Amino acid sequence: MTKDADPGLARLDIDLSAIAANWHTLVARHPGGPVAGVLKADAYGLGAAQVAPALHAVGCRHFFTAHLAEAIAIRPMLSGAMLAVLNGLPPGSEAAFVAHDILPVLGTPDEIARWSALGARLGRRLPALLHIDTGMNRLGLDPAALAGIAGRLDGIALRYVMTHLAAAEVADDPMNARQRARFAAACAALPGVARSLANSSGIFLGAEYGSDLARPGAALYGINPTPGRPNPMRPVVRLRARVLALRDVPAGEGVGYNSTWVAPRPSRIATVGVGYADGWLRSHSGRGHANFDAARLPLVGRVSMDLTTFDVTDAPGLGAGDWLELIGPGRSADDVADAAGTNGYEVLTSLGRRYRRVWRA
Ligand SMILES: *Cc1c(COP(=O)(O)O)cnc(C)c1O
Repeated sequence: MTKDADPGLARLDIDLSAIAANWHTLVARHPGGPVAGVLKADAYGLGAAQVAPALHAVGCRHFFTAHLAEAIAIRPMLSGAMLAVLNGLPPGSEAAFVAHDILPVLGTPDEIARWSALGARLGRRLPALLHIDTGMNRLGLDPAALAGIAGRLDGIALRYVMTHLAAAEVADDPMNARQRARFAAACAALPGVARSLANSSGIFLGAEYGSDLARPGAALYGINPTPGRPNPMRPVVRLRARVLALRDVPAGEGVGYNSTWVAPRPSRIATVGVGYADGWLRSHSGRGHANFDAARLPLVGRVSMDLTTFDVTDAPGLGAGDWLELIGPGRSADDVADAAGTNGYEVLTSLGRRYRRVWRA
């Protein structure tokens, strides 16, 4: 079946101009240095192959992925730009990094040794970033190890030294200032090396969190970097699903697997073709709602693999084939996440492969 013959059961619209506008907003908020684009996990589920050129076209010249394969896929679209891999330098991948002009973010003495050894063999200092662990205890070099590897760093063209904030979205978390102080101390041991600190939320923590390169991801894609306060970013994603079936259910009848919802009154139920196999998480079961015009339609019963049910009793104008909005300007990925007990990052990166994706320039 061709795409036109099958318009799809659900449609995901991605607004590339809103992503570009969000990048400009972050640039204005980070006057001390440029703003990168973090494109890991297929640009948070929105399509790195589309997002990368859109950001490049508006002037973004620094990019990050998590995996080398993600970086190789978009390298040809990013001429003249720095492209770096956050998850480090797996043994055996060194030559591929060099061949594709991709920078590793080094975070262990072993990675540093292998990168500088390859540079020595090739007769030049290879470019890289250095990740310092300032309290997240996940990736990055222990600052105490810095002195021990200082000689090896001489063989590397260090573009940036970076760290990652663990709680930047909680503005008054004391972890923020602690990490900033530890980072400043580590950077003092690397004089002259440019620094990279803030993620999306870090950009909004104040001027002290400015650096030579900010690394936002989520805010580019419309996730609120300042939870609890109004979202300064433009919405990017709209997910709509078509009503496949409508039925009238008498009071006392259950809906869906295990009848976790029982109609408290005679009810009208709409079924849409989106389920947990589409990344519409099972934890949405019985929580949240869809929008249809001005109506809020409660999600009722279990989310199943390919289907979800809504109580549309109070939207009598709704018919089969109408589109319900699951995510959109009126219901952000953050709202959806709140209802399901997760965050907007997980909602976006879970977006499934069966949606018809439409990118708007
Ligand atoms: C994911 C990631 C970012 C981007 O974080 P957001 O909160 O999405 O802005 C920046 N730096 C590192 C090291 C990351 O892993």
